[in-house]
Amino acid sequence: MAHEVVLIPGDGIGPEITSAMRRVVDATGVAIEWDVRDAGAGVMEAYGTPLPQHVLDAVGRAKVAIKGPVTTPIGTGFRSVNVALRKHFDLYACVRPCLSQPGDGSRYEGVDIVIVRENTEDLYAGIEFDEGAAEVAALSELVSASGQKAFRPDSAISVKPISIEGSRRIVEYAFEYARRCGRRKVTAVHKANIMKATDGLFLRVAREVAQRYPDIAFEDKIVDATCMGLVQNPADFDVLVLPNLYGDIVSDLGAGLVGGLGMAPGSNIGADIAVFEPTHGSAPDIAGKDIANPTAEILSAAMMLDHVGEQEAAERIRRAVRAVLAEGTAVTGDVRRAQTGSARGAVGTQAYADAVIASLRAEA
Ligand code: ATP
Repeated sequence: MAHEVVLIPGDGIGPEITSAMRRVVDATGVAIEWDVRDAGAGVMEAYGTPLPQHVLDAVGRAKVAIKGPVTTPIGTGFRSVNVALRKHFDLYACVRPCLSQPGDGSRYEGVDIVIVRENTEDLYAGIEFDEGAAEVAALSELVSASGQKAFRPDSAISVKPISIEGSRRIVEYAFEYARRCGRRKVTAVHKANIMKATDGLFLRVAREVAQRYPDIAFEDKIVDATCMGLVQNPADFDVLVLPNLYGDIVSDLGAGLVGGLGMAPGSNIGADIAVFEPTHGSAPDIAGKDIANPTAEILSAAMMLDHVGEQEAAERIRRAVRAVLAEGTAVTGDVRRAQTGSARGAVGTQAYADAVIASLRAEA
């Protein structure tokens, strides 16, 4: 029976990289019934929202979706369509593997880390008050009454909620992932020395959860030291679990270790729904030019195939991508530029996908 998968092409480079991804997935022979649904700026006029109800309904039905990046039009009531989708389905775990591949154009070799980012809380909760809002004055009074130093009255405020339950489930997810995937260590990343309440809670819960997994090593590390450690010696790290904002930032750092944003896949996982998408955004500067690197989207599809029980096809895709990058003649401009300082000789998005498909077929 075919797997039903919702495909949200998105905008910017989304349509190009998702069409490349779809061709690669179809070339594996796995039967997928693609339910293509548009979201983002392009549907605003028709539906009055960048995230129409029928898209949510389709994802809720299929339980599996893969998307390209979606730009959030300004003034829609959404801070981010991507974040809204994660929140709607409570996709609390964002998993982003960063794995070196020969020929990826990175300065590093042998990087193999997995970033597990909390996806629903923290400064991404969307609780914000503009400078001058009545709530800012009320908050100021609360802070003064609590005996803490008042903030300036012309401040804007973003609220950072970190809960016991939100922290527990993401750290448990990281340990379960580590166990399932044969990983050796989980590092909890925080800034508890400064944010003693919020990050302190995250750290305390992480330590409690770690005690239940004696077979997996555990350490905690302050986020700034983590960034330095990742750049100096990424081999010191294995699975990292982070609150939302640090997870966002360290994800791009991780992508940079393995060749850049065009290489870094990802997934957003909830209790029974999973949405796969690359780490990068819609890259409007290179949209519509057939130059974007679809690797991150293609590797996100491999994660999606793992999720639906098609591990063999997922591995075939990963092997084909590895072979094409290692061979090195059919690579996109970002990779070529990282390797040689110039994009000269690079191939386009679709030609790269053709090379991946040819490699898949040659192996079969
Ligand atoms: P967001 O905030 O939505 O994550 P962003 O502002 O961080 O987006 P991205 O769209 O992720 O920006 O990308 C930043 C830059 O990296 C792009 O402008 C583009 O030049 C490059 N880039 C991103 N993705 C790719 C890709 N798949 N292939 C090639 N270059 C890319």
